[in-house]
Amino acid sequence: MTEQPMVRFENVSKRYGSLTVLDGLDLEIKRGEKVSVIGPSGSGKTTVLRMLMTLETINDGVIWVEGEPLTHMQRNGKLVPADINHIRKIRAKIGMVFQSFNLFPHMTAMANCIEAPITVLGMKRADAEARAADLLEMVGLGQKKGHYPSQLSGGQQQRVAIARALAMRPKIMLFDEVTSALDPELVGEVLEVIRKLGREHDLTMLMVTHQMGFAKEFSDRVCFFHAGKICEQGPPKELFGAPKNERTQQFLRAVL
Ligand code: ADP
Repeated sequence: MTEQPMVRFENVSKRYGSLTVLDGLDLEIKRGEKVSVIGPSGSGKTTVLRMLMTLETINDGVIWVEGEPLTHMQRNGKLVPADINHIRKIRAKIGMVFQSFNLFPHMTAMANCIEAPITVLGMKRADAEARAADLLEMVGLGQKKGHYPSQLSGGQQQRVAIARALAMRPKIMLFDEVTSALDPELVGEVLEVIRKLGREHDLTMLMVTHQMGFAKEFSDRVCFFHAGKICEQGPPKELFGAPKNERTQQFLRAVL
């Protein structure tokens, strides 16, 4: 028997008024798989992550996480709309890092990393602090625990944001153009942290990125989005080396 996918988008559509942003999307992500999403601006890439994070509603279709529907639950053999506890339970499996860091500005790096573990997971402060200290160390910020976001560079803030997401022990990490807001010289340090995380084989990672070199070297699979659909997908060597679809070829010619 094949293993249950970690995430499955089944015929998922998203519309804003008359604009169809995702058009019957089917996408399966295996446990531990590292998937990069590339494509032109406006093709629906960010929407995919936001829907998985339940930051957007879905118009049609179902998103499954470890075999459970995200926005619905099984009751007496039928799918009914999920209640908030069900959504929270599934969401707890997912962490997201945004383009714009989104740290709490009035809290230190450490406080940013312990807030949700204490309030949402009910962790003891001492345990949350010990874990946050390990994570801040892992992202290379062991010496910056007491700094506020305004005292940190963009790259450092983004590394705190990664540590903060990991503090909730997610099984799935979503990265939404996490280096796009950074000065070029700060991009490498953030990608290095993601690379390090990638070596943890258990963590499933879905990443929207414009860093083609990184997508090529890091991902198990790359999905090229165009107009709300996956136009082409495959191992990075194939997708970058010998794209089959005309649109993928055009896009890669323009960005590489
Ligand atoms: P990408 O990440 O590929 O650039 P997005 O997923 O951000 O694309 O957006 C896809 C399309 O949906 C774009 O045309 C965008 O303008 C539109 N869109 C995104 N969010 C909203 C919203 N809240 N209201 C209306 N349109 C939106």
